[in-house]
Amino acid sequence: MEVFSQKSLIKEYLKTSRIAGKRIGFVPTMGALHSGHISLINKSKAENDLTVCSIFVNPTQFNDKKDFDNYPQPLLRDQTALIKAGCDVLFLPDVSDMYPQGIDNLYVSISFGQLDKVLEGKHRPGHFNGVALIVSKLLHIISPTVAYFGQKDYQQYLIIEKLIQELDFDVKIEMVETVRDPDGLAFSSRNERLSLSERTVAPILYQALLIAKNSWNSSLNSERAKAEANVLLKKYPEIELEYLEIVDAKTLNTLVINDSSRKALICIAAKIGETRLIDNLLV
Ligand code: AMP
Repeated sequence: MEVFSQKSLIKEYLKTSRIAGKRIGFVPTMGALHSGHISLINKSKAENDLTVCSIFVNPTQFNDKKDFDNYPQPLLRDQTALIKAGCDVLFLPDVSDMYPQGIDNLYVSISFGQLDKVLEGKHRPGHFNGVALIVSKLLHIISPTVAYFGQKDYQQYLIIEKLIQELDFDVKIEMVETVRDPDGLAFSSRNERLSLSERTVAPILYQALLIAKNSWNSSLNSERAKAEANVLLKKYPEIELEYLEIVDAKTLNTLVINDSSRKALICIAAKIGETRLIDNLLV
């Protein structure tokens, strides 16, 4: 695996592949890699000639400095996992290369109307602006044929889809299904921060989503579906629920009645101890 830490060098390297007509698949990550990330790498490998992964803990998308400071960065372990998965190129930039003007002196900001005002956008002000900035930069540097994103961050996927469509980025994007532990907990780099007892409680978030999904499909009523899921969540005082919502999967507008005409997204965010987790199901 080729490793680059400077954008000028990786650009130069990938130029040759592009000229040779190779398909380049790109998987942007913040590291602390797990099976979810690796499934994105696998998909890229299956569909492209060359797979590029980036690891960059992007400071502009963290609204909570403590969360940024505590973000796990097991670089050696990540490199080993990527080599094992057959990743071809790793881009490991540092903050000064990605933001030479500093992160407090940025003029550009991108907003997404309704899409970044709700759910994660409401609870993490500025988060999606930071995501849009870094994804734009990375797509310009790597210039891939296809970029891969996980369903676990569904709102992020939707926002990046709009970014690419409306700003005419010359790239396709694909969404990859959420990978879970056998007990249902979605893999997340933040799971590493859970204590043993918190880890046993964490799969309840997925169970709550399943209850909401069943009820949404049978009662056809979002208040009822959320209330039934809440009965389970309330049994666990360790779970500090931020939101449990049923929204239109295209617009993220709240859905009240299930009239089967629209795809719904049932999504949850909660803190367990100091760790904030998110998950969702598409119905
Ligand atoms: P992150 O390192 O958290 O920024 O995630 C990098 C990419 O991996 C994003 O597109 C995520 O949506 C995706 N991802 C994270 N967790 C999972 C998972 N459990 N299953 C599938 N994709 C995931």
